[in-house]
Amino acid sequence: MQFVLASHNEKKMAEMAAILGELGIEVVRLPADAPEPAEDGATFAENALIKAKSAAECTGLPAIADDSGLCVDALNGAPGVYSARYCEGTDQDRNAFLLKNMQGRTDRACRFVCAICCILPDGETIAVRGECEGELLCESRGAGGFGYDPLFYVPAYGCTFGELPGEVKNEISHRGRALRALRAELEKRL
Ligand code: IMP
Repeated sequence: MQFVLASHNEKKMAEMAAILGELGIEVVRLPADAPEPAEDGATFAENALIKAKSAAECTGLPAIADDSGLCVDALNGAPGVYSARYCEGTDQDRNAFLLKNMQGRTDRACRFVCAICCILPDGETIAVRGECEGELLCESRGAGGFGYDPLFYVPAYGCTFGELPGEVKNEISHRGRALRALRAELEKRL
């Protein structure tokens, strides 16, 4: 079955296509001129639903959308749903802004969260969620991945998401977990 993936983020698309490919699901790209809906939901799940609906309406295909972000305990869950637009600029600028806001904070606990919404051809909606616990470093380590990956330290592996090979990240990441939860739900239906 073919699904449209509601994302323009190339690195996130590649991660999702790798995991969904293992499930025998063929994914197609969102057309470049597809409307970009306002991600004004209060939660990751609400934003994933907004994106999936918009992609399904624009392409006529079943759709899969994710909304994800980093939640830092010492910042009451920020940047959370604002992770992609925490501040103007590049991923590096956002990482620097986050480190500045965390200056002097000793509680470095944080987690990546991913909500996925899937809209099936009959209109049924499946919502799943995955999380990955970690610690926020005080400086970047590793050049892999994207976004906050170089700051996200996973104690069990002794390295950051930016240092982990992609396939290992996919095994333990919030997105990998959410996608496998989606696979379990799809297997019951397809
Ligand atoms: P979204 O595209 O609206 O879901 O925004 C997700 C944002 O959260 C990204 O732009 C990153 O800043 C951050 N994020 C989500 N997942 C990851 C990840 O796996 N690694 C690093 N940053 C992530």
